[in-house]
Amino acid sequence: AAAGALHLVAHPRPGRFAGRPDTALQPLDLDAPRLGAEMPADFTWNRLLSYDACVSCGRCETACPAFAAGQPLNPKKLIQDLVAGLSPAEPAYAGAPYPGGRDAMGGRGALIELVGPEARIHPDTLWSCTTCRACVEECPMMIEHVDAVVSLRRSQTLELGALPEKAVGPVTELRQAGEAGGRPLAARTDFAAGLDLPVLAPRGRTDVLLWLGEGAYDLRYGRSLRALVRLLRQAGVDFAVLGPEERDTGDLARRLGDEATFQALAKANIATLAARDFGRIVTADPHALHALRNEYPAFGGRYAVMHHTAFLLELIRAGRLAPGRLSDVSVTYHDPCYLARYNGETEAPRAVLDAIGVSRVEMARSGRRAMCCGGGGGAPVSDVPGERRIPDLRMAQAAETGAGIVAVACPSCTAMLEGVPDRKAEIRDIAELLLQAVEAGR
Ligand code: SF4
Ligand code: SF4
Repeated sequence: AAAGALHLVAHPRPGRFAGRPDTALQPLDLDAPRLGAEMPADFTWNRLLSYDACVSCGRCETACPAFAAGQPLNPKKLIQDLVAGLSPAEPAYAGAPYPGGRDAMGGRGALIELVGPEARIHPDTLWSCTTCRACVEECPMMIEHVDAVVSLRRSQTLELGALPEKAVGPVTELRQAGEAGGRPLAARTDFAAGLDLPVLAPRGRTDVLLWLGEGAYDLRYGRSLRALVRLLRQAGVDFAVLGPEERDTGDLARRLGDEATFQALAKANIATLAARDFGRIVTADPHALHALRNEYPAFGGRYAVMHHTAFLLELIRAGRLAPGRLSDVSVTYHDPCYLARYNGETEAPRAVLDAIGVSRVEMARSGRRAMCCGGGGGAPVSDVPGERRIPDLRMAQAAETGAGIVAVACPSCTAMLEGVPDRKAEIRDIAELLLQAVEAGR
């Protein structure tokens, strides 16, 4: 009780008590003698206190998609393993272990190595996390599991060079090519062939800078972006893209613990943006939105950033888009973690769906309590095997609603849910549905 009360007073994210999302990762001083957390003593005292405040209620475990998929991660056990570093005796823990049947191992004390094949936390436990924040959202003690995971990952990546094998390629490409697939930056706009996408030149001016993100390279997601571009044209929006000057925001590198690559990409993008004149940034990618809106300010980049669903709603309400009604269509909306939980935005996508007259049904887990698609935190590139796949679980939840369409608002969600075999429902971005309604209303 004492630890709990003191933890709330000294909470590492006081912004949460002001009712606003306080979800940006803290910048790491890359000149510090030790990078990230390797042992309990590497965490600050108020972080350690927060782990000791865990009441073992298990709500984080119930919410965790990786645990549900039988990957070797249980956020409750993870916090208890961090507590073990504080205690001279093994703390009592009668909860579920990490899935996969690994016996408890590793020592106790503030100076033990926390992560390793023979340590308390297996590396696969660390890399299973999608950084979805469902555990944080549920925790009655307001413990910050994701911060703990990223601190441990930073040590693995920056101190030990121990990234998961499959993540080495994308992170190396991010560092060298500014893009996780190593493709030319100019190819980001290939999806828009024939659309005559305006590119914002240095010293040029536009009302809306459209940030394309990593999804622009994906053939399927190109359809969603084409729909968005056509809607912007239809509404007469003055917009442009950065073209070959848009680098990855660094979201993937940062979640995988490679803070050095993230900071290099952030600084390069901020320098590019400083040479352009624009009103606000609009993006269809919640991961890019989160980095640009919440994480770039720590490096001097401050922008008004909107998700495309909020911007499209604004255009509908201003009468600049006049959608018809798709009244015979039944839709369930899957909230992206980085939009709903990280940024508190749950209403605009639903309001757009309501404006086009679809019959909207909610999944049992929705809004800020929605279940992750499995696509965040570098989990798809780490690819830790489980007993099931997270997107399969999510699509089964969607199927329970009976909806014929799962509406999405994120390129990662689109890719993960489209990849589910034997899907009963179609996956459509909200921009695609809105374009269909606008064309039906003509
Ligand atoms: S952030 Fe999501 S995946 Fe990671 S431990 Fe928490 S609930 Fe599990
Ligand atoms: S939800 Fe919070 S208090 Fe409950 S078991 Fe998880 S970490 Fe502990």
